[in-house]
Amino acid sequence: MTPARAVVRHVTWTLAPDAEPVTYTLLCVVCSEKSERSEDWVEPQEWALAHSGRNPSHHTYREVVTRPWRTWMSA
Ligand SMILES: [Zn+2]
Repeated sequence: MTPARAVVRHVTWTLAPDAEPVTYTLLCVVCSEKSERSEDWVEPQEWALAHSGRNPSHHTYREVVTRPWRTWMSA
């Protein structure tokens, strides 16, 4: 005999980018200091140039892009 099965509730989740803006940060790989988060690339890039100016052996950076997402449930 086959056991009875029932789907009591089926829901679908959707994932999409949120309305909050994407932000950029530059991180110095040498000392882990980082720029402020900015909605623009210019401020992190200016921070990196100034940071290298103050720390002439710090030449390597990583860009951190924060892209907000959200989920919602539809029945
Ligand atoms: Zn540094």
